[in-house]
Amino acid sequence: MSRRRALIVGIGGQDGSYLAEFLLARDYEVYGLVRHSTAQAPERIAHLAGRVALLRGDLVDQLSLNAAIDSARPHEVYNFGGTSFVPESWQQPGLTAELTGLGVVRLLESIRLADPTIRFYQASTSEMFGRPAAAPQTEATPFDPQNPYAVAKVFGHQMVERYRDGFGLFAVSGILYNHESPRRGVEFVTRKITHAVARIALGLEHEVLLGDLSASRDWGFAGDYIRAMWLMLQQDEASSYVVATGELHSVQDVAEVAFARAGLDWRDHVRVDERFVRPKDATAHLVGDAARARDDLDWHPSVDFEQLIHLMVDADLARTDGERGHDPEMDWPASEIPQWSDGARRPR
Ligand code: GDP
Repeated sequence: MSRRRALIVGIGGQDGSYLAEFLLARDYEVYGLVRHSTAQAPERIAHLAGRVALLRGDLVDQLSLNAAIDSARPHEVYNFGGTSFVPESWQQPGLTAELTGLGVVRLLESIRLADPTIRFYQASTSEMFGRPAAAPQTEATPFDPQNPYAVAKVFGHQMVERYRDGFGLFAVSGILYNHESPRRGVEFVTRKITHAVARIALGLEHEVLLGDLSASRDWGFAGDYIRAMWLMLQQDEASSYVVATGELHSVQDVAEVAFARAGLDWRDHVRVDERFVRPKDATAHLVGDAARARDDLDWHPSVDFEQLIHLMVDADLARTDGERGHDPEMDWPASEIPQWSDGARRPR
């Protein structure tokens, strides 16, 4: 039997890189779509060079997607493409709609025309629930998107359902709650904190500026969430699933656990800065009920909240200590991380 083939759109991101490793370990041929014409593999998959085939293409360019599907002839396509940082979507709402929303339709069209037996995974998100009336949320909870990113994701999510019902494609969405790892970008709050903890512990900085410490999220480990995606594509029936831990923790919880891991007291090093406070965010109780994923997919997270923050701090300490000067992400002083807040473009 020939090897199974998968095409990962957005292979250079956190999820794409973990999924590539996961599929290689299962003897898949892995193809990755990358946007820019560069000779080098993206940083997060540099260690997989030679083991994944990179194809050039862009979610705004239908012909490039058709060509990628033609050349990879995948059995499975995973879409992580588009933007992922919520505040940025207020700066570039048009691009967000184009990539994160319409990009999904372009992929579905490529699949429908090339080979409708290809199985398709769409990265949907808990952000689609916005400020939900009920907690925890399930697959049946109504969407109430609160930002351009979430609106674009709802569009993609619903188009996946329309293509599944209308054309009989095996197309599914995973409604994933926040999932983190040492590969998370430094603009996201967990990594922002663990990155700062390492720099503070090593005497390179003294404090980190954060937004609302009471803002809460359901945080899991990205490596666990990759497994759920793959399981969704191995089922007899195509269906969408919530993937979550079911536990809500605050930003303050993250700071407490992260600083304690390095033997520090968060109260000595965290300062609240209004620029990082998102309006109305404290009222969002985004916590998921993954009962269907447990029942149908036999999916269970293997890393709990404390273990997750510990593994991120440990990785940041090791990288900051050992590889300073080599890893561009780690060379970035926390104080110079671009600030997403831009009052002029955000609604109050
Ligand atoms: P998101 O849930 O996809 O937007 O992931 P983030 O990691 O960016 O934000 C998670 C939560 O942390 C949100 O409720 C933010 O409002 C809150 N938060 C508090 N302070 C900060 C901060 O300094 N940076 C970021 N990114 N988020 C913060």
